[in-house]
Amino acid sequence: MSNCTMSTVKGCLASHVISTATSSQSRVAFRPVATARLNSSPSTPPPNLIQNKPVFAAPAPIIHPLLKEDMGKDSYEEAIAALQKLLSEKGELGPVAAAKIDGIRAELQTADGSASSAESIEKLKAGFIHFKREKYEKNPALHAELAKGQSPKFMIFACSDSRVCPSHVLDMQPGEAFIVRNVANMVPPYDKVKYAGVGSAIEFAVLSLKVQEIVVIGHSACGGIKGLMSFPFDGSYSTDFIEDWVKIALPAKAKVLAEHGDKPFAEQCAWCEKEAVNVSLGNLLSYPFVREGLVKKTLALKGGYYDFIKGSFELWGLEFSLSPSLSVKDVATILHWKLL
Ligand SMILES: [Zn+2]
Repeated sequence: MSNCTMSTVKGCLASHVISTATSSQSRVAFRPVATARLNSSPSTPPPNLIQNKPVFAAPAPIIHPLLKEDMGKDSYEEAIAALQKLLSEKGELGPVAAAKIDGIRAELQTADGSASSAESIEKLKAGFIHFKREKYEKNPALHAELAKGQSPKFMIFACSDSRVCPSHVLDMQPGEAFIVRNVANMVPPYDKVKYAGVGSAIEFAVLSLKVQEIVVIGHSACGGIKGLMSFPFDGSYSTDFIEDWVKIALPAKAKVLAEHGDKPFAEQCAWCEKEAVNVSLGNLLSYPFVREGLVKKTLALKGGYYDFIKGSFELWGLEFSLSPSLSVKDVATILHWKLL
């Protein structure tokens, strides 16, 4: 790219579009937000973690949840008893009361877990049976290999959105991708206290599994990004967790508002869905083992965007070349400085 002019370190984006859509949105500027930490990761050997347990056992006991305590005197059973009393006292209300009782009983059955839950269990069972017959048993070599361990090439960050499962969208088989899914596919900055969940996944993927690529994939019509663009972030909170989580990508929101503040809200969200990916790519640089992987060229970072409305997928990468005289510390410093 013509704007990558630094002589020793080049941080730029190579945009590659696997799509019929070639809108101007396919080019996204890289933007870091993390303060790079310069200490290297400890040289202790990574843990050997191989899951060697069945993923599906005999039918599990069905847990019948207790009705909420705060339902107390207004519980379903008491409501039914009250209606039955009403029915016996006022015969003329019979049909109305009977209908209400039927409705409440139906609702109670659902809450009790015996109606919709049975359907859910059947869905899960049928799904696993289909998978086992059509995939597991038809590919014994793969699954015998996977029984020994995993060696995925990719680590993927994707949204929890039910429409964007990366295994489906990218046609990946078991063993191919170590996947983290969360609201709005975000990578938070290195923080051992606040973000230990994501941090441990990155640490394990990079140091133990030695993944070669970390891909952060955004998507169209992302509810998390819509929330990010909608929440006022003025000190008031309307959610327990969501605002605090999506504000990781506030720099993306700021950039979109600065550059596309005059555009319709939906368009701003679409821009932010991609810019938030770049914020995550920047945040990945705050993990020392990620930086080391980049410098040693054992690891690459990529951004992706799946548009399930258009049926398109975009991919872009962070590429930089190094002078042999530069250390990891230099690179982290320069990248951080350059990309701010
Ligand atoms: Zn989403």
